[in-house]
Amino acid sequence: MNYSREKILFDTVQRDNILPITSKCNLNCIFCSHKNNPPEIKTFSFGDLSLNVIKQLIEFIDPEKPLIIGESATRIIEGEPFLHPEINTVLEVLYKEYPKINLKITTNGSHIGDKELYQLQRFKNLELNISVNGPDAEARKILMNDKNAENVFILLSKLKKYGILFQASVVSMHHITGLGFIKRTLDRMELYGPESLRIFLPGFSRHAPDNLTFSGNIYNELNDFIDKVDGDYSYPIIIEPQIISNLDAATAGVIDKSPAYIAGIEKGDIIEEIDEDKAESRVDAFYRIKKTKNPNLKIVRDNKIINLKIVKKSGEKSGLIMSYDISPFMKEKFLGYLKQCRNISTAVITSELAYPMLKYLVDKNSKDNYKFQLIKAENKFFGGSIKSAGLLLNSDIFSALEKYSFSFERIILPEIIYDYYGYDLSMSSYIELEKKYKSEIILI
Ligand code: SF4
Repeated sequence: MNYSREKILFDTVQRDNILPITSKCNLNCIFCSHKNNPPEIKTFSFGDLSLNVIKQLIEFIDPEKPLIIGESATRIIEGEPFLHPEINTVLEVLYKEYPKINLKITTNGSHIGDKELYQLQRFKNLELNISVNGPDAEARKILMNDKNAENVFILLSKLKKYGILFQASVVSMHHITGLGFIKRTLDRMELYGPESLRIFLPGFSRHAPDNLTFSGNIYNELNDFIDKVDGDYSYPIIIEPQIISNLDAATAGVIDKSPAYIAGIEKGDIIEEIDEDKAESRVDAFYRIKKTKNPNLKIVRDNKIINLKIVKKSGEKSGLIMSYDISPFMKEKFLGYLKQCRNISTAVITSELAYPMLKYLVDKNSKDNYKFQLIKAENKFFGGSIKSAGLLLNSDIFSALEKYSFSFERIILPEIIYDYYGYDLSMSSYIELEKKYKSEIILI
C-alpha cells in the first residue's frame, strides 16, 4: 500500500480533526514514545509543513469538534508545534477562520514567548497542555534534554497575566527518580495553578534500554502516593491510564472554582442521574452535563444519595474530570452485537486496558446460551509496558486467538488498531484475519 503524503495529511484533518504542523522536536526526552518503536513500524515524519499546505488543511477542519495540535494520534509523528517558524501566522489564520473553536494544543513549553501568548489568549476555548515532567530546570535537562530548561518556568509564570488557563502533564519516572521527585514537581506546580495535572506512566516498548524500563507494580505505588497527597494541592491530579472496571459515572477530579466545584461535587462522587435521567457511563454523564443548562444531579457519595445543581450555561465546561470509558452509541452497538451471539459465534478482542470494563459490560448483559468469547490481546509485538489497543497489531490478534481450536463466525476488533485504509502499524491489513479465520471481521 502506497500512501501519498497529501492523502494522509488531509485524512488526518478530515477524520480526526488533528492539524499536523511539524514532526520536528527540539527536545529528546528519555521517555519519548517515538524513540523505541520496533523497526517494522511504519510512521511518517514530514518536518515543518509549509504555510501553504497548513492553510489548505485548515479548510478541512470541523469547527464543531475540538481541534487537536501537537498530539500523535495517527501514523504522522507530531513534534513540538511552537517550533514551526510560522506558528504565529498559523494561529492567526485559525483564529480568523474559527475564533470559537475548542483548540487543544500539547506543547513542551520551551518555545512559547510573548508573541505566541498573544495569539493563544485570543482563543477563549483553548486547552493548553504543557508537558512539564519535572520540578526544575535541572530535572528538565536530564529527563528531556532541554537546553533552555528555564523557559518553561518563565512561561508558566506569565500565563496568568495573559489570562490563559493550562493543564500540566508529567511522565512519571518515579521508578528511577523516586516519589519525592513527583512531590517536588507537584509542589512547584502549585505556584502556577494548573487547572489539572495528569501523571502518565511511561510506555516503554521491548526496544527501550534496560536502565529505563521497570518491573513490579509501579502503578499501585503511584496510585497510593497520589491518594495520600491529593488533598494538599488546589488542582486535581489524575493518573493515566486509568484502569476502569465498571461504568459508574465516577468523577476523577473537579477543577478548582469551576461550576462543579461551586456546586459541591467532589472527587469520587458517582453521578447516577442528570435531570432524572440515568447516567449510562462516564462519557455519557460528562457530555450530557456539558450540554445541559443548570443540570440537576443525583449523586452517590459514601453510600448516601445527594442532590445537587450545577449552575452553568448550556455548552459551558462543568469542571468535572472523568475518565473515558464508553460512549452511549458505542455501548449500544456493542450490546447489539452481543445479542446476536445467540446465533453467531463471536470473539471480541480487547486490549489489556479495556478488558475489565468490557468484562463488566458482558457479565451484566450476556445470557447462558450466547456463543461469545471476550479475549484479551497482549501487546506482544511492542512488548514492554505497552498495553493499549492503538498499539495492537495483527500478529497480537493471531497470538490471542491461537489457543482456540474452533473458529468464530465473527471477530470484533477495536477500530483504532487500523488506519483509514485498514492497515495496522506494520502495514498488515485486517483482511489477513478474514482470510486466515474465514470469519466476518467487524471493527468498532
Ligand atoms: S517533547 Fe514530546 S515529542 Fe519532543 S522529545 Fe519530548 S516526548 Fe518526544
